[in-house]
Amino acid sequence: MSPPAATLNDSPTLTHSLPTKNGINGTAPPATKTIINGAPPSTKTTVTELKSEEAVQTSMFGKWSDFAFAPIRESQVSRAMTRRYFADLDNYAESDIVIVGAGSCGLTAAYMLGKQRPDLKIAVIEAGVSPGGGAWLGGQLFSAMVMRKPADTFLNDLGVPYEDEGNFVVVKHAALFTSTLLSKVLSFPNIKLFNATAVEDLITRPHIQATGATLGGAVRIAGVVTNWTLVSMHHDDQSCMDPNTINAPVVVSTTGHDGPFGAFSVKRLVSMGQVEKLGGMRGLDMARAEDAIVKSTREVVPGLVVAGMELSEVDGANRMGPTFGAMVGSGVKAAEEALRVFEERKGQE
Ligand SMILES: Cc1cc2nc3c(=O)[nH]c(=O)nc-3n(C[C@H](O)[C@H](O)[C@H](O)COP(=O)(O)OP(=O)(O)OC[C@H]3O[C@@H](n4cnc5c(N)ncnc54)[C@H](O)[C@@H]3O)c2cc1C
Repeated sequence: MSPPAATLNDSPTLTHSLPTKNGINGTAPPATKTIINGAPPSTKTTVTELKSEEAVQTSMFGKWSDFAFAPIRESQVSRAMTRRYFADLDNYAESDIVIVGAGSCGLTAAYMLGKQRPDLKIAVIEAGVSPGGGAWLGGQLFSAMVMRKPADTFLNDLGVPYEDEGNFVVVKHAALFTSTLLSKVLSFPNIKLFNATAVEDLITRPHIQATGATLGGAVRIAGVVTNWTLVSMHHDDQSCMDPNTINAPVVVSTTGHDGPFGAFSVKRLVSMGQVEKLGGMRGLDMARAEDAIVKSTREVVPGLVVAGMELSEVDGANRMGPTFGAMVGSGVKAAEEALRVFEERKGQE
């Protein structure tokens, strides 16, 4: 299947439309302008649909002696990347929803939100260079991924094949699930993934209750403080490396269980005095753990929804081992919860 065609105007805003047989929106694709002096394009540049496998064979197989790429100047490559990235930083500085962590839970939440609400701007912040968190393999580095029903509903929606074993299903390789989910999330025009970017703090406001009163030092989360992950890792040996920020009425935190980067937001809630202490992830109990994580996915403090394995650190829930249905279920519930919180808080400062 062809990916969505994307049209790039001189203004750096990307607009996407579904591909049709005849090209973008049924019109013949305009010719692409070649610029080799390095100046930004002054006319519309169009990324056309990928050609079919047959067309690739016809145009390339057996023709390698004449093979040459279209000409390019290095600055064109630089500008093609930086223009888009800085436009995205500008555009997403005010987001509707920020998702922290692009593991199985965060990506599931992003998929549900992107699909249901194309009108919302959703930023996904991932500390690692490679998104996907711990969902590239099953338990003990085995390939297969197990999900208990009813998580198969989500696989059906995604179009990921599996073997049905009765109460659970098995995807032949965890990477098939994660790569499919990731590619769908990245295809949504209203979702931007900022990877290699760490959330290093939360933006807070005093929490004003419905009565107009503020309670003690209670806060509402109103966005995230970010930095390049490599910069975040060097605050101890380099000085004056101030961060960047993204404002949003709701943040969904899915940073996984405790570790060098994990459980980030909930650990920060403790250090800010918003949560007394963490329960800590308990021993393994597959049957109980999965239900508990999904059912407890919620707004832990105003403006902050916590989901996935990060939640086990707050509640002291059991770990579940290599069964991933709970990450999907928690991501779906986090999306529902995020939309509720968004409606409640979107007008707030
Ligand atoms: C020691 C260990 C034990 C495990 N135990 C279990 C278990 O009991 N049960 C289970 O289901 N799975 C377990 N797993 C497997 C796996 O981690 C989880 O199942 C699953 O990947 C959790 O999904 P998640 O989306 O909640 O978090 P993860 O897959 O861990 O994804 C979290 C993502 O958030 C990113 N991130 C973290 N902090 C930040 C930050 N500050 N800013 C931006 N991004 C950030 C991380 O880079 C990561 O990509 C375990 C893995 C390990 C290594």
